[in-house]
Amino acid sequence: MKTQIIRYTNKASLEPAAAILRDGGIVAFPTETVYGLGGNAFDPAAAKKIYEAKGRPSDNPLIVHLHDYRTAGQYAHTTPLFFELAEAFMPGPLTIILRKRSFIPDSVTGGLDTVGLRVPSHPIARELIELAGVPVAAPSANLSGKPSPTAFSHVMHDLNGRVDAIIDGGTSEFGVESTIIKLENDGTIKLLRPGAITIEMLSLFSDHIEVDPAVTQKFDGIPLAPGMKYRHYAPSSPLTVLEGDNDAVYEFLNGKERCGVICFDEDLPFIRGKHVYTCGPREDSLTQAKRLFDCLRRLDDVEGIDVIFARMPAKVGIGLAVFNRLLKAAGFSVRTLPPKR
Ligand code: AMP
Ligand code: MG
Repeated sequence: MKTQIIRYTNKASLEPAAAILRDGGIVAFPTETVYGLGGNAFDPAAAKKIYEAKGRPSDNPLIVHLHDYRTAGQYAHTTPLFFELAEAFMPGPLTIILRKRSFIPDSVTGGLDTVGLRVPSHPIARELIELAGVPVAAPSANLSGKPSPTAFSHVMHDLNGRVDAIIDGGTSEFGVESTIIKLENDGTIKLLRPGAITIEMLSLFSDHIEVDPAVTQKFDGIPLAPGMKYRHYAPSSPLTVLEGDNDAVYEFLNGKERCGVICFDEDLPFIRGKHVYTCGPREDSLTQAKRLFDCLRRLDDVEGIDVIFARMPAKVGIGLAVFNRLLKAAGFSVRTLPPKR
């Protein structure tokens, strides 16, 4: 398949991409979280193309992207709490799961009776959805199992030749996928996937925030979100997250050969080796979120490493999202190093 590359100049430059969506094709487009691979959410054939292009199992549902949260009632059964949250955080990096209306095809929701709704804030995503005139079902625009794409080059690497069009929109602002929440009948907000809309922000809207155990622990059981059971973000060499103080971590890493490292800026002077990548300052979770997937992809391209080690990130704010993605990339492999003193 010949993939059309679209460079954004003005709204009119997106019309070919909008036409592809209306005609049942699929388009990769930038959002403020990661790039998405979109198709018409009313068209089961478009959903099928998305699953095929990604190599994604078809029981892992897609998120439906809208231009305006006030239209949500057309697609799902809304609640007062939905609108409170939507007013606060939409457009933005939040996906809310609601009971779906019947004309959202089962192929989009992986057979579930719920649908995840999101209103992206990225100007290109907003204009594209508006021009298309249909809700846009989209997962991340990566090959299944690979880190989500946070740069145009990542999408080209994974999907050039597999999709109808790719829109170049530079680098993603947040770099981790949207926060996903489900609203329970008793007012509880259940966090299924952490992101840039943090627990701290959500707790202004409910006294009961429940973090799904799969966010921090290896999942085995019946998945609430089908995505939970699949391997994610996995680099080609096995990855282990290191828990320990600076001295313990430096001594451990400097005793290893043929390893890749993901660390913080402050660690760089203390770690020897050629394949050491920093995802940002230790205290700066926002930068770490932005850079993590790029670090994982860079390490994928490196020859001559057998294993990858990453430092343990902070777990508060958007740091919880960094922690969650790193653990998933590591298949929840964590090694705790004893303190040196
Ligand atoms: P992606 O952002 O590419 O990882 O894909 C969308 C994510 O949203 C997947 O992890 C899905 O499992 C999750 N998701 C989408 N719709 C639902 C839903 N109705 N219930 C639970 N999770 C969902
Ligand atoms: Mg994904």
